[in-house]
Formats: sequence, structure tokens, C-alpha cells
Amino acid sequence: MEGARFVEVVANRGDLRWPLPKDFVQRLKGQTVSGLGRRAKYLLADLSSGDVLVMHLGMSGSFRIERDEGGAAPGAYYHERSKNTAHDHVVFRMSSGATIRFNDPRRFGSMKLVARAKIDEEPLLHALGPEPLGNEFDAAMLAAACAGKKTSLKAALLDQRVVAGLGNIYVCEALFRAKLSPKRRASTIADRHGKPNDRAEALVPAIKAVLEAAIKAGGSSLRDHRRTDGSLGDFQHTFLVYDREGQPCPAGCKGTVKRIVQAGRSTFYCPSCQK
Ligand SMILES: [Zn+2]
Repeated sequence: MEGARFVEVVANRGDLRWPLPKDFVQRLKGQTVSGLGRRAKYLLADLSSGDVLVMHLGMSGSFRIERDEGGAAPGAYYHERSKNTAHDHVVFRMSSGATIRFNDPRRFGSMKLVARAKIDEEPLLHALGPEPLGNEFDAAMLAAACAGKKTSLKAALLDQRVVAGLGNIYVCEALFRAKLSPKRRASTIADRHGKPNDRAEALVPAIKAVLEAAIKAGGSSLRDHRRTDGSLGDFQHTFLVYDREGQPCPAGCKGTVKRIVQAGRSTFYCPSCQK
């Protein structure tokens, strides 16, 4: 997409998590993508018009990229990789020859156009906490965000205002690596003055390590996630506790991985070594 122009935009269904803007197709067609970025779980494409195309995969959304190799005429697509093209809700045909399909069976995904000049005021983005892999995210920042919080540490880490873009699987895995109980009060990673203690110092590198490992493995293919070429991510093979209820603790503490539900989401942890 980067450097390429939208030659054709097809919006098969506008009723995604929220409706596509009425002028969605007109505002994209003919525009060039000047840059691609990401903020939390939002994908951002800067356009030559000054708009930003904001995209979110939701629960089951994916992008599939098909290249116009073999000299196929525009429009002559091949579908052998896609299971169900009925869920291809938005299709971009780019001047680079690539066709990009947004497929989302459950339609929790979404797209929105926001003026770049107003992106800081965008409600979806403005309350987001720091990027977990950024330099500014450190023990001091995390401790300050959790200080005084009476919620569980698990719930605090899932709160996008505390740290952006961290999902359920990665919170479970990071807490296991840091040997911290998901049930512990969030405020206990800070001292009385909101300064980080040893727990915060252990947690931040654990979060970064889990995310870096997951990115390297191409993400986690638990249900619907696919890489853009349609292949599966591999990180689920390296889960230490997630989805491993009843299995021996991989830290070798002789404990057993347990599943509990916190705020409607499954938490997997080892009650023996996560304190
Ligand atoms: Zn254990």
C-alpha cells in the first residue's frame, strides 16, 4: 500500500462494528498512501488528501494481500486461499498491483477516516496509554499508572489507558514470566509514592519480551488470526500458560496451570509460583 494509489475501493458491507462513512469510497479512491503506521491495535494509513484511514481488526478481522503476479488482468482474482469470500467486506485495489481484502466473519472490525490534523482529538486514540515496545514505557511509567488502582493487575494491564495494545493472551504470558499473580491489586507494583518496586521492574521487561517473541513468531493463530499471506502465526506453540489449564507449570515449580475468569476473560496462571 505504501506509495501506491487506491485504484478501486469496494465496500461490500458498510455495517462493520460501526458504519463506514457514507463517502468512504469517494474519499479513498485516487488517494496515495504516503505512510503506514500503527497506534495500539489501530492500523493507520496516511493519505495524500490529509485523511488518515484508521483500521481495526476487531476479534476476527484479517487483511489478505494478493499480488497481481502472472500478469492477470485487474479484476481476475484467485480465491484459493480464502475460505469464505462472503466475509470480504472491503476490497482495495492498489496501483502497485496488489489487492487487499478485509475479511471479517464477526464484523467487530472497523474502518474510519480521520483528518490528520485532528488525529490527536480522535476519541478512539486520544486516551491511549504508551506503546509497550516504546522507550517511554518503563517501570516508572507503569507504576505511576497503576498506583492507587484497586482493580486486579490483570485488569489494569488490559486497560488500554495504562498500556496500549496489550491483549488477553499477552497479559497472561507476561504475568507468568514476571511471576506475578493476575489477582494481585494493581497498586501493589508501586510504593506509597507511586514509584516502581521490584514487581514493576520485573513486569516491564516481561511484557516487552512476550510481545517481541510473538511478533517474531508472526502472531498467535488461536481462532481466526492469519498473516497477510493467509498463513498461520506460530506464537500459540510457545504459550507457557495460556490455554494450558491442568498442565504442569512450565517453570517446574510442581504447580498446575489454572484457569479463572476475570472481567469476563479467561486468565491462565500458576497459583504456586505467581504471587
Ligand atoms: Zn509455577
